[in-house]
Amino acid sequence: VMGLITQLSKYKTELEGKLYHEIGRLEKSTGVCSECGQHHVLTLNDRYFTCTACETYQSRDLSAAKSIAKTGELDLIAAGIVARVT
Ligand SMILES: [Zn+2]
Repeated sequence: VMGLITQLSKYKTELEGKLYHEIGRLEKSTGVCSECGQHHVLTLNDRYFTCTACETYQSRDLSAAKSIAKTGELDLIAAGIVARVT
């Protein structure tokens, strides 16, 4: 199912003339604070957590999504493909 979702996402993105990029499969996103990058060990029941470094209260899924977006943006900037993601 995930393969189909990524294929459709890639198709729609390119159809709109935008850039599609996948981050590495081993990039850690769950439990990474989206504000400061601190890593936390979470169980599957931990839907929310408070960062031990910056003390922000975050949703596990929203924080993971922001971390994935930030990692992708840094990948594209490091590759020289974009200067800044909008
Ligand atoms: Zn933090």
